Amino acid sequence: MAVILDGKTCSKEILEDIKKRVAKMPQKPSIAVILAGEDPASKIYVKNKEKTALELGFTSKVYRLEENVSAEELKNLILNLNRDKDTHAILLQLPLPKHLKSRDFIELIDPGKDVDGFHPINCGKLLTNSNPYAVSCTPKGVIRLLKKYNIEIQGRHAVVIGRSNMVGKPLSVLLLNENATVTMAHSKTKNLSEIAREADILISATGICGLVKKDFVKDGAVVVDVGITRDFEGKIKGDVDFEEVSKTASFITPVPGGVGPMTIAMLMENTLELCLNNAEF
Ligand code: NAD
Repeated sequence: MAVILDGKTCSKEILEDIKKRVAKMPQKPSIAVILAGEDPASKIYVKNKEKTALELGFTSKVYRLEENVSAEELKNLILNLNRDKDTHAILLQLPLPKHLKSRDFIELIDPGKDVDGFHPINCGKLLTNSNPYAVSCTPKGVIRLLKKYNIEIQGRHAVVIGRSNMVGKPLSVLLLNENATVTMAHSKTKNLSEIAREADILISATGICGLVKKDFVKDGAVVVDVGITRDFEGKIKGDVDFEEVSKTASFITPVPGGVGPMTIAMLMENTLELCLNNAEF
């Protein structure tokens, strides 16, 4: 049976450490979260992020905007937060309402306050392996979890299923920066199961429940499940058939309790780091 990559415990340790560091800081890290519209999942995510930030002693302010907020209003809010010296981190919760194009607004965020690492400057810095202000939280959390369990990345074949700007692409680049040999797979990939079976480290980030079955996984592979979907009972499920795959993998993340808690821990760590970059202590 595979060893469980316990993101819950790992994230708890990271958060406790952040809390101790913040207690000693004269100026507390502050995060501004922009939530536009009524997306139910986004509302839950924002609530959890705010709760965690406050527990750590951060200052957190949520800007709730109407579903029909104008592009001008959102733009002005971001520019004001960029100028506000008491705001260290800005998080634009996605997806935005349909009439707004997320890229247009991500690009307005000051790269030094871009806590999600989505700004093109931060993506470019990641690609050139040259110290982004922040690295996208979920991919960063995956790497941290692998390292926590001393899983060797260098020289190993990592297959990432999913090529989104939020998860698949930055994760592939992080793995490459750690000297893995990386294959990126996606919805148009042919022979997906054959390619996946070549992986020493297989990471799935598609949101397709049960996509990764036993025949996708080489014996002894490390399997990381980023996917989050809800079944008809509202239960959270991942991309991986955990019951079957955990019999032959060497390590595996559960869903929930794997990558999800690591994402929030990395968001808090990024906020702290952006604050320290700006601090005039
Ligand atoms: P997305 O919809 O932007 O991208 C999905 C990717 O999966 C695409 O690149 C697509 O090509 C690929 N894909 C879709 N169907 C496929 C198939 N049949 N075979 C191979 N590839 C396929 O989603 P995203 O934002 O990258 O998120 C992916 C999943 O990860 C979602 O379930 C999301 O909820 C979850 N997620 C989890 C966390 C976390 O903290 N655990 C954070 C972010 C996203």
